[in-house]
Amino acid sequence: MSETALKKVTEYTPEEVEKVSNWINTEDYKEKNFAREALVINPAHACQPLGAQMVATSFEGSLPFVHGSQGCASYFRSTFSRHYREPAAATCDAMTEDGAVFGGQNNLFEGLENAYTLYKPKMMPVYTTCMPEVIGDDLTAFIKNAKQKGHIPEDLPVPYANTPSFNGTHIHGYDAMLKSILAYLTKGQKIEGKCTGKLNLIPGFDGNVGNIREYKRILDLFEIPYTVLADSSDVFDSGCDGHYELYSGGTKLEDAAESINGKATISMQKFSSVTTMKWIDENFSGVNEVMPMPFGVAKTDAFILKLSELFDKPVPEALKKERALAVDAMTDAHQYLHGKKFAVYGDPDYVIGIISFLLEMGARPWHVVISRGTKKVKKEIEAVLETSMYGEGCTVHVNKDLWHMRSLLMTDPVEGMIGDTHGKFAARDAKIPLFRIGFPIIDRVNLHRNPVVGYQGAITMLTMIANKFLDIKDETCEDQWFEMMR
Ligand code: SF4
Repeated sequence: MSETALKKVTEYTPEEVEKVSNWINTEDYKEKNFAREALVINPAHACQPLGAQMVATSFEGSLPFVHGSQGCASYFRSTFSRHYREPAAATCDAMTEDGAVFGGQNNLFEGLENAYTLYKPKMMPVYTTCMPEVIGDDLTAFIKNAKQKGHIPEDLPVPYANTPSFNGTHIHGYDAMLKSILAYLTKGQKIEGKCTGKLNLIPGFDGNVGNIREYKRILDLFEIPYTVLADSSDVFDSGCDGHYELYSGGTKLEDAAESINGKATISMQKFSSVTTMKWIDENFSGVNEVMPMPFGVAKTDAFILKLSELFDKPVPEALKKERALAVDAMTDAHQYLHGKKFAVYGDPDYVIGIISFLLEMGARPWHVVISRGTKKVKKEIEAVLETSMYGEGCTVHVNKDLWHMRSLLMTDPVEGMIGDTHGKFAARDAKIPLFRIGFPIIDRVNLHRNPVVGYQGAITMLTMIANKFLDIKDETCEDQWFEMMR
């Protein structure tokens, strides 16, 4: 042994290690694991301000501004960069111990001034990390003071949201920031009797830029004019032409401002737009609808028919053809998914969509984990499960994490798992494939570019899942069952 080798604090014999390794796969351990209350292990959610940053970055010329700790800001940026494999610009006023004691106003003044001088943004949405929330920093007063004292121009839009991560997740931060930005930009823009004829489409917290482009493609096929609130597609997926653009893509501020006079607003995610849609109901002139994410055929049909109804337009022939192709692809592939059990976890809107798709394929959602949610979320998921005989036997666990999920997988096995990258540890222990749908996906490339919504998305998902099972069959079957055709 070399002199520099670390001396272990506690030595365990290989027998002891094996004994514990086996024990954590038992019902006895699962019971103790599910009794755990004061510790979260590998949750399937991120911080509130991360969700706020997703919105803050998705408007034209907008520079997200974190009021709080630099470590938090680095975590948000690195998570986006790892998922999208793109730069994720954001600034932070780097509060430290003195800010925690005396308040972060001076940090905010200096940070806003520096960021504005250096990066000339058109808008700087501010959102908080836990530290300023714990000490009770007053953003309303701080931002007003920053403008009065000339640190930033009076007319610079600086909407803000309180996003304490000890209360909520990234979807709540998304919701709070979006409401704040819309309230700011639409102030004084409402004109009685005016209708732009446009649809406002809110994608919700969606790390799949392909989904947002798919919504836009469908709207183009319908020839429905639209504004996506907020559009992250070109922000987080810009081409590589040798030039770096700090502000790439995003919803135009004028379009966001006039969204209040739109013909209709549709949110594609119920649980990440609760506050925003409530505010829109009270303030926007048009019709407002909340749709389930269009995963699978039935939910895509509902979206398409809603567009047709709201804008009094026939369903385009191209979409009818796509639907037929999706049904054909599902028929061809259903035998490889039928009856297979799946564990599903992630954001409520995604989970509901994935479950609907699985039920359509005759697959059986079996363990569902939402790592932070309400009774309402649980009820809604159970209602979707009740729509099909394939939903029978599935259990929904709200406020549980992926270490709980591991216990479920080890004591009541399933054939596959669907969710983001965080589930790979449990999937590996359970020796089952993980189908990566959700956010973040930081161990595979380009999945965030392939839409999983719409008829095209259904084909993408079933192709990925069915072919993986066929790969496993080819890799593991005995020689006599190794066939050319499957
Ligand atoms: S939980 Fe709070 S302190 Fe921790 S990274 Fe998230 S925002 Fe920062």
